[in-house]
Amino acid sequence: MPDNSSVAFLGLGHMGGPMALNLVRAGYRVAGFDVVPAAMDAAQAQGVAVAASAAEAVAGADVVLTMFRSGQEVLDAYRGRAGHAGQPGLLAATQPGTMFLDCSTINVDEAREASRLAIEAGHRSVDAPVSGGVVGAEAGTLTFMAGGEVEDFEAVRPLLEVMGKRVVHCGGHGAGQAAKICNNMILGVSMIAVSEAFVLGEKLGLTHQALFDVASAASGQCWALTTNCPVPGPVPTSPANRDYQPGFAAALMAKDLNLAVNALDSTGVAGQMGALAARIYDRFAAEGGAGRDFSAIITDIRGASERQGGDRPAGEDAEAERPAGHRATTAHDDGSPE
Ligand code: NAD
Repeated sequence: MPDNSSVAFLGLGHMGGPMALNLVRAGYRVAGFDVVPAAMDAAQAQGVAVAASAAEAVAGADVVLTMFRSGQEVLDAYRGRAGHAGQPGLLAATQPGTMFLDCSTINVDEAREASRLAIEAGHRSVDAPVSGGVVGAEAGTLTFMAGGEVEDFEAVRPLLEVMGKRVVHCGGHGAGQAAKICNNMILGVSMIAVSEAFVLGEKLGLTHQALFDVASAASGQCWALTTNCPVPGPVPTSPANRDYQPGFAAALMAKDLNLAVNALDSTGVAGQMGALAARIYDRFAAEGGAGRDFSAIITDIRGASERQGGDRPAGEDAEAERPAGHRATTAHDDGSPE
């Protein structure tokens, strides 16, 4: 997509607003739209032209880019939904061959369904969720994980490279979402493991620095330890040094882990750690941790250890069954940055 392409940018929230602005600055002709007027006002004040309706935004667009909270919102917008004021289905409101580029973080199955609907309607489709948070959205340094046909990925690559510094084609439709949730499942599980190890080390009389010096140069090495270290001190830039201001908010970790659980369920993979991590972060988020960096889970583990010397918080029983039909509500959030 050349940099004079026209982009309908739908969803001008915490992520979408700054992403749209970066496209404008790079010369793309952007028509923004959000169902929340305040989000439109904020984007407009920054210099993003906004449309009066979704239909107006997508009229004549080369690319329809969506940045919503949930897969249901994406599917509703694609299909159209009775009662969604002023919003016809985007698939029907666009000329054939339009590129539908969804950057929301949603279920793999929903991403595949969205692509199927787009292609069935004569359009092109790429899923490209991001990591890097609001800071990355503002700086244009996001990582995009993309799924779709190679030629469609190549078509959107220049546009993604405006908004991000790393763009990876992960495979066919839904592969971008798959890569994101697999990565974040590793991250959620490893953060809990690192946090438990630090609390255990405290009880055993180890200093944080001693454990860090050993594990960071040994087989316990991982990003949760060496970059986002959950205790203050060893990694001065980690959120633990600023009272766990995110960073990557626990609410978003809970959301992504639940998307991973849904994928474990739908594929029949007998994964236990991801499901357990989802329960731990769900509870932590519900009990006041939603807006804190996800590494603050260590405060929860430490608190429970202090309270009873072994009595674990609900949801941490490794033998517990995963709730039947556990589905993510892909809506989050307090808008905390990743
Ligand atoms: P947000 O709630 O701030 O923004 C979403 C926006 O979409 C809202 O303003 C909402 O009004 C709008 N919207 C919903 N339906 C719409 C429709 N039909 N038409 C037009 N606008 C519509 O959420 P966010 O923090 O910007 O996150 C967006 C996505 O990015 C989520 O899927 C999230 O998981 C993912 N993500 C967020 C972060 C982060 O740090 N916030 C990091 C990585 C990925």
